[in-house]
Amino acid sequence: MTNTQTHKDILGHPQGLFYLFFAELWERFSFYGMRALLTLYMVNKIFEALSTRDVAAAAVYASYGSLVYASTVIGGKISDTILGLRRSIFLGGILMSLGHFVLAIDSSMAFFLALGLIVVGNGFFKPNISTFVGSLYKDGDVRKDSGFTIFYMGINIGGWVAPLLCGWLAATYGWHYGFGLAGFGMLLGLAFFWNGIKRQVFGQAGLPPSQAVIDKPLLGVPQGILIPILAFVCAPLVALMLASYEPIANGSTIFGDQNLVNVIFKAIGVVILIYLAKVLYDATLEERKKLFVAILISFFMTIFWGFHELSGSVITLFAARNVDLSFMDAAQTNSLNSMFIIILAIPISLMWAYLAKTKRNPRTPYKFGLGLVFAGLSFYVLSISGLQANEEGLVPFSYLLVMYFLLSIGELFMSPVGLSKITDLSPKRIVAFMMGIWFLSSAYAFQVVGFISKELAVDSDNANVGGLETLSIYTEGFELIAMYSLGAGVFVLLSSPFIKKLMGKVH
Ligand code: GLN
Repeated sequence: MTNTQTHKDILGHPQGLFYLFFAELWERFSFYGMRALLTLYMVNKIFEALSTRDVAAAAVYASYGSLVYASTVIGGKISDTILGLRRSIFLGGILMSLGHFVLAIDSSMAFFLALGLIVVGNGFFKPNISTFVGSLYKDGDVRKDSGFTIFYMGINIGGWVAPLLCGWLAATYGWHYGFGLAGFGMLLGLAFFWNGIKRQVFGQAGLPPSQAVIDKPLLGVPQGILIPILAFVCAPLVALMLASYEPIANGSTIFGDQNLVNVIFKAIGVVILIYLAKVLYDATLEERKKLFVAILISFFMTIFWGFHELSGSVITLFAARNVDLSFMDAAQTNSLNSMFIIILAIPISLMWAYLAKTKRNPRTPYKFGLGLVFAGLSFYVLSISGLQANEEGLVPFSYLLVMYFLLSIGELFMSPVGLSKITDLSPKRIVAFMMGIWFLSSAYAFQVVGFISKELAVDSDNANVGGLETLSIYTEGFELIAMYSLGAGVFVLLSSPFIKKLMGKVH
């Protein structure tokens, strides 16, 4: 990719970075603003009449999350081969903002259609804007890592402010105002991106691989036009898949207590495992050792996100039903993770730099093990919160605060580190495929979220259930999650000397 030096740098980084920073900030604003409301909206509106509303909401949330991340594999591939980054980001942004506006319509059909639009839109937007950041720097440019750190800040500023504002709007004026604001956020993101293109701050970066490919007809229509049409057609199909949970009788569907998406993900999972075994088999011995670690890292990440992404489902419901909220409402507690990421990102990266200077920077497997231990500790804190519950079964807000503090430390030990290690550990010829596996780890994490959320679902005729009725369901569940996460973390730490050897020179 071409480096863009057509404009002067800002804070030592290409000017384009700051346009992408604000575009992604507003995209994540829309994504997390909507996510903060999603589970509460399903439980209180869409599935309100069902006693099994929690299970239904869990199935839809998990399937939506799985598809949102799995679609990035397809969106990344189409961008690489046909559309290029700029067109893909535009297409994705338009689909996503449309999705958020459709959510502002009060009907369950509109609800599923909106989720379909966001899934397809995110597939085109999210992987490609991250790749765009990388393309602003030449290979080996030392500023790249700090460029990504600045970009991760943008993500989390969006993720911090959006739940506060969308949550406030939803509570004060109604759900649909909250969703509507998310839609405007996405439009603002696109406006920033458009402005960057108009001012030519991206140089040649992000253009399609070739105009000939864009113009090449497929089914009689140029590919550059056909793909956006197909993307719009796909959205209602995804909506149908998500709506396949619509309960036939009291919570059961033709797929039992699953939906079509869960069934498909299980089948694809088996195919991926067989394919990964083949990739390992075909590799040379040196490659095989590193690839094995890349697969392990993706697997550990699945476990971590599987617990972390509970924040938009079970933890939001726990906040609504069992936390003594005085500063903010349950939807707004979704901002806490991003708030701590903003506070902790710089100190933690300074800590790695300091440790590196004295040659004590822990190698990747140790960071991953510690990340899982922090996740375990965070759920342990929630599990003991019941000891301080008042007579209404509400626990002090401080437990939630400490929980998100610890979980965010875990995230910073794993997420930014993992992405760059995947590129280091994969042979060049399959690095794009391994990136896909990395994104799929977030997709499969939502299958874990679905499983846990179903286990912790409350079955009640009363939509306003909570207090002493639900407290022990959550705290006992959190204790189990804590044990699993701590167990996984200790296992990774104990295996680290072995994993370290397999990694060779990669840190
Ligand atoms: N919070 C980060 C983001 O929104 C990572 C989320 C994930 O990969 N599951 O980009």
